[in-house]
Parts: sequence; structure tokens; C-alpha cells
Amino acid sequence: MASYGVARSNDLLAKPCAPMPVARPELPTAEALLPYLRRLDETRWYSNFGPLLTEFEARLADRFGPQTHVVTCANATQGLTLCLQAMDLPQGSLCALPAYTFVATAHAVIAAGLVPYFLDVDPDTWMLQPQTVRDALQGAPGPISAAILVAPFGLMPDLAPWLALREETGLQVLLDAAAAFDDLQAAPVPAVVSLHATKVLGIGEGGFLATTDDILAQRVRQRTTYGFRGSRESHIPATNAKLSEYAGAVGLAALDGWPHNRLRWLRTAQAVRAALLHLPQVGFQPGWGANWVTSVCSVRLPDGAAAAVEEKLNARGVETRRWWGLGCHTNPAFAGCPHGDLTETDRLGASVIGLPFAIDLDFEQIGAVASALAESLDALGPPPPPEGS
Ligand SMILES: *Cc1c(COP(=O)(O)O)cnc(C)c1O
Repeated sequence: MASYGVARSNDLLAKPCAPMPVARPELPTAEALLPYLRRLDETRWYSNFGPLLTEFEARLADRFGPQTHVVTCANATQGLTLCLQAMDLPQGSLCALPAYTFVATAHAVIAAGLVPYFLDVDPDTWMLQPQTVRDALQGAPGPISAAILVAPFGLMPDLAPWLALREETGLQVLLDAAAAFDDLQAAPVPAVVSLHATKVLGIGEGGFLATTDDILAQRVRQRTTYGFRGSRESHIPATNAKLSEYAGAVGLAALDGWPHNRLRWLRTAQAVRAALLHLPQVGFQPGWGANWVTSVCSVRLPDGAAAAVEEKLNARGVETRRWWGLGCHTNPAFAGCPHGDLTETDRLGASVIGLPFAIDLDFEQIGAVASALAESLDALGPPPPPEGS
């Protein structure tokens, strides 16, 4: 194993730190699962919408208004794909999406027979703006039939202007809320949440669609279960994207723990914010760890500093991750896809890094990350003078 960085003479507290992983998921314990697993022993109903999954869906739906339907699925990537398929869009048409997102968003677009059209994001919220889509309707290399907006790392967009865009243009709008389990409280736009182990409410693998559109909910449900609709007759091209009763058991235990765990996420996030307060060059997403919680700590560094800082942190045993790399559009899988101007996305890709974060990150670990980050930023030298000075 490598030895980690040498303490600098002006930092008496800095010491070689143990390798610190960028994430350390915590799912329900065996003890918490046991009562639900015992129910499985009694019912011997292991999949196909048994009592545990049905109860899990009902409890998820309780988080929204009474008009909202919840449809669980194997993962968020499948959820996004099946939802786009259920929208019956013209095959080969363009689906606008932010270039700053995880690859799953674009994979879902392609799997649904559409062409990803990457658009730029807003520098403050890291989100696609409805006006950008509106502007793109003119210059796009083909007809745009849908837009996917993404809640980056769990920060929810304001949905009102998206509803207006849908109304005005007839575009279908879908929300990739994969990381937004906490912040998503209403789904006037169909929204897909991930329950992957690395997300804030993890069950291992899983996801769900939340929507007030009951027809869409039925159409997605049918696509998760061979096109069946109450009988064993298949009505539409479909797949199998069901969750098992085991997933339902983990989901119920995870929801039992959620009120407490949400507070633990908040507490840890607040400690991280406090520890980095003296580093004004480190920017958080609006409301991160205060108004909403998420499982990753993606911070924005000075323009272009991500690679250099990352190298220094890694050398000190602090693992980092560029969760969305240099932007989704830079992945070889999407090299041929059309895109608009991506200035802000490129800038984010070169300046955002994910720091180590976990629900139980302790004060010592947080302090170690903070001092390693301070030193790494220091080593960059002074920032360029502000323009015009
Ligand atoms: C995690 C994530 C996904 C993928 O979710 P899975 O459940 O793993 O398929 C999709 N989009 C975004 C924005 C994500 O963060």
C-alpha cells in the first residue's frame, strides 16, 4: 500500500490519512430485515407484486399527494426507458437532455428508440433550463419530441416552467429524479427515482416512477411485466423489470429507518459544510445538505481545477470521483449524438469533484478531507486576479 502525503510544516494537524473511500453505502441491517423476511416464510410469495412490494409502493405513494401513482421497477434506467416507451414518441426523433448528467439518462433515450440531443446547463443550478429547450426547437438537427430534465445529484428543479413548456409546445417532459428521493414531493411531471445502493434511500437495485398520470402509470406497469394487463395475455412489446418481494422487504425496512437516517445525512452534511467554510473557493449546490439531502458531495472548485486537485487528494489517500465525468456527451457511447453549445457543461466537468461522503462520516474523517482539500487548493497557487482589476 502506498504511503500517503507528508505533513506540511505549516499544518501541524495534517498527517498521513488512511485511504478514505468516496462512498460507503449503508442499507438496512439483517435485524431490521428479519421481520419482513419472516413474512416471506409465511406467504411463500416471492415476486409478482406480492404483499411486501405492494405495501412498499403504497408507502412510497404516501410521500406524495393522493393523486400520485407509484410504479416500482428494476432500476431507474429501466424506469426512464419504459416511461419514454410508454409515451409513444416518434421513433428516431430527438429527446433533449442536459449534457451534465449520468450516462443512464442518455442510455434510456437510446433504448427507447430516440436520439439524445445534449443541451447545456445553467452554471448555478447545474440544470437544463426550459428556455434552452425552447431555443433549441428552432436550430435542432431534427424534430424534438421530448425533454428529460435531471435533478442533479438530487436537487429538484422548479417544475412550473416545465409544465408551461409542455403545455405550450406539446413536448413530453420526463424528470430524471434518480438521486432526488428526498427532495421530490410532487410529480406533476412524471419522475423516476433510483433506489440503487449508492443513492440516499438504497435497497440494492431498484427504482420507481411517480406520476399523477394514471394512464401513463398503467402503461409503464404493463411494460415491467411482459405486457400483461391482469391476464396472461401480452398486449404490447414489453420486458420484465419487476422488483421481487426481497426488494420489497429491503424497501420497507429502508423506509422504517428513513426519518432517522435523513437526520443523520443532514448532520453529516452540515459538518462537512462547516469544515469547508474557510474555503470560499469550494462551492456547494444550492441548499445542499440543508434543504435537501443526498448521498454524494459534489463540490465546484475554481474553473479547471478538478483534475489537479483530484490528483493531490488521491495521493493523500482521499478518494474522489467525478461522478458525471466531463459530461455525458464525452462518453464514447454517445460520440455520434447531436448537441448544442456546451460551454457551461464543459466548465462544470473540469471543475466539479465528488468528495468522500457517507451517512456516518465522522468528524475526524471530515477534518482530514478538509485539510487535504485546503492543501491541494493551496498548491494551485493564488487565483487569477478578478477581471478589470
Ligand atoms: C443514479 C442515476 C441513474 C441510474 O439509476 P439506476 O437505478 O442505477 O439505474 C440515472 N440518472 C441519474 C441522474 C442518476 O444519478
